Amino acid sequence: MSKGTALLRQQNEKRTLAILRTGKLSSRQEIAAALGLSKNTISLIVDKFIKDGIIKEVGIDEQGGVGRPRIQLRLRTEAYKSIGILIQNSYFQYIVTDYCSNILDKGSIAMDGDDPDRYIAKIIRVCNTLIEQHPEVLGIGIAVPALVDPIEGVVYFSSHLSWRNIPLKEQMDAVLPVKTKVLNLVKAAAIAPSTGLPTENASNSFYLRIDEGIGGAHIMDSQIYSGANWTAGEVGHLCMEPDGPLCSCGQRGCLEALVSIPAILKQIQKQLPEIKIDSNLEYYLNSKGTQPTAFDEIMRRSGLYVGMAVSQIILLINPGYIVIDSPFEKLEAFKRSVLSSVESRALKFPKEKTKILFIKSHFASSIGAAFAVILDFEKE
Ligand SMILES: [Zn+2]
Repeated sequence: MSKGTALLRQQNEKRTLAILRTGKLSSRQEIAAALGLSKNTISLIVDKFIKDGIIKEVGIDEQGGVGRPRIQLRLRTEAYKSIGILIQNSYFQYIVTDYCSNILDKGSIAMDGDDPDRYIAKIIRVCNTLIEQHPEVLGIGIAVPALVDPIEGVVYFSSHLSWRNIPLKEQMDAVLPVKTKVLNLVKAAAIAPSTGLPTENASNSFYLRIDEGIGGAHIMDSQIYSGANWTAGEVGHLCMEPDGPLCSCGQRGCLEALVSIPAILKQIQKQLPEIKIDSNLEYYLNSKGTQPTAFDEIMRRSGLYVGMAVSQIILLINPGYIVIDSPFEKLEAFKRSVLSSVESRALKFPKEKTKILFIKSHFASSIGAAFAVILDFEKE
């Protein structure tokens, strides 16, 4: 087989896997039609995958109608796996997923400080153990709360970690048997199948995540648009109040300084000083505390700012969908305020056409990081 033919065959193999991953169930005929290839070509590929234990035949499609019966094929989803890691400043979370992003293994490791050398050495030890337990792992995706070069895998700057100019990919690749991919944590979450964002079919959408910080990702033609220097989508630092509270970036009144979880907790502490709060918002989100009016007012104001940011996103990029991933996805005061804030801004036409979805995703950044490895594998 010539080099060109071998490459073409490999591409067709990966495209076949992608069809089975997204459709879960298919037949040789359907795959051939979807890829515009002959059934013979697909049969050769499928037979090889069956021999290698990657695809199995699961029965005959009775709905096939006239012609020869269609044998249904299913991917053995554990034939390929991926590791996803989410770095935070006091711990990191790891997961192992199968080829369809189902979590097979997960855990969290507490870190005493964020010294990069010690931190990365610990990640490498954990990855080595996971690869021993799951030899099917194709690669490692690491989501970092930082400005990241996803091609070279360098972590340039983070306001949540002390890391500066860390060649994370290079350090991991030097000692591990599989390659590492490094992503910004919000951009990783945006591509996770679990966020519900229709990435694979939506040509243009925006993902806005409210957490310890606030970030965003613009998905254009089903790919994350990173911009000239990987900072596209940094919605957390849009200025909402020129004289507002100081942000971690040094500016005043950024969206992140007003509605990130730490910013909300600060407002609760200020307005309801008699109530002792822990570091999460669960108490308020579930019971609204003893003074719901004050809390509702904080959430109403937060919704107003988020709506202002969403209006600007709608005007700038005209997305089909905007997904707001936050712990407030069930709070009516917040959601109503976001929608009415958008309603009173943004131009009528794009506003009416843009769908706004409220979600709270779990493990999204680590699932997205693991999924990025699968997508790269399919593109190789
Ligand atoms: Zn800022």
